[in-house]
Amino acid sequence: MQRITILGATGSIGASTLDVLARHPEKYQVHALTAHGRVDELAAQCRAFRPARAVVGTAEAAQRLAQLIADLPTSVEYGAQALCDVAASPDTDTVMAAIVGGAGLAPTLAAARAGKKVLLANKEALVMSGQLFMDAVKEHKATLLPIDSEHNAIFQSLPQSYARQPGDSGVARILLTASGGPFLNRAVDTLEDVTPEEACKHPNWVMGRKISVDSATMMNKGLEVIEAHWLFGAPAEMIEVVIHPQSVIHSMVSYVDGSVVAQLGNPDMRTPIAHALAFPERIESGVGQLDLTRMASLQFHRPDYQRFPCLALAFEALRDGGTAPALLNAANEVAVQAFLDRRIGFRDIDRVIGRVMDEIAHGAAASIEAVMEQDARARAAAERVVAGLARA
Ligand code: NDP
Ligand code: MG
Repeated sequence: MQRITILGATGSIGASTLDVLARHPEKYQVHALTAHGRVDELAAQCRAFRPARAVVGTAEAAQRLAQLIADLPTSVEYGAQALCDVAASPDTDTVMAAIVGGAGLAPTLAAARAGKKVLLANKEALVMSGQLFMDAVKEHKATLLPIDSEHNAIFQSLPQSYARQPGDSGVARILLTASGGPFLNRAVDTLEDVTPEEACKHPNWVMGRKISVDSATMMNKGLEVIEAHWLFGAPAEMIEVVIHPQSVIHSMVSYVDGSVVAQLGNPDMRTPIAHALAFPERIESGVGQLDLTRMASLQFHRPDYQRFPCLALAFEALRDGGTAPALLNAANEVAVQAFLDRRIGFRDIDRVIGRVMDEIAHGAAASIEAVMEQDARARAAAERVVAGLARA
């Protein structure tokens, strides 16, 4: 029996994970579920999966949850420390890291430091703390498996012996596919006016609101380039972004002999979740088999950096190194929230990030404390830029 903690159980990835687990009650047992504010949803999940522990964001939320599930054996906790506790608990083997944004860093790192099997959806955690996080995984003998569909596809396309070094096993390039999001073909001069509703309407995937906006700006792909750099030890020059609007090929690896190995499937996150849960075995995920005969055509082209300046900003942050990716991520989180709150326009997102990156000098990512200090400075600077743009 594998005992599982889901950080961010009420989100899109959290719900897909529970869907897969429910298909295999003989294999998996839920140890803990966490949410931030959606108490009713978490209560329903606790009723269905009967975890030993549940964690929410605040004392008030905890009080409400405790009332809703008073008849269950689940103990209710709240706050940042409780998230780290359930992630590192000796009673859990596997941690699904599916909190959105920087809030997921501390508990995901706690899971790595406790030597858990970490299923990583929370790409922001790795973007912020890349080297430190990978060092913790190695030092504490944690197992890190990618949930992000592209990285899971790359993982499946690499030989199992791959040693996280450029050139190892004859790997030439990582081809990171991108759908291009909802604005791939929209006239660039109309992008100033798009609404949060339009930005969140992804053509192929159903996801949380923050990552949906990231997909529309292609910052999501930028974060994924940085994520791929850390997961697979690949320098920026080895990672190529390929626009593939149908999202059937989830990413590819090309080899020095000219071979290209790809992973294909229907766009449904339950496939990478099931893959990582059962690895190296395979389990049924609820996702239907891909019917290639129904594919009209598969297209591929290069990204347009004028249309998607966030992608260029992310490559720049990766090349700058140190805390630059943490600054990028923090500014992006603030800007995306401001856009979702209708305080700034869609094109202001890259303006906010660009200005914060110019304003704050990045330093060495020597410790988690240094990263968090830069994260806080970038958030404050981004709020100031947002306030200025909102007044303009
Ligand atoms: P959602 O917004 O759907 O869910 C986010 C989850 O995190 C919820 O459970 C939410 O709780 C919780 N949460 C939010 N803020 C906090 C906080 N401050 N402290 C603790 N918990 C918090 O996001 P997704 O499921 O879409 O994405 C989760 C992660 O997975 C992201 O990093 C995303 O980039 C990544 N990912 C997602 C994919 C997808 O298809 N959705 C694909 C690839 C990666 P509550 O519900 O109570 O607010
Ligand atoms: Mg992805």
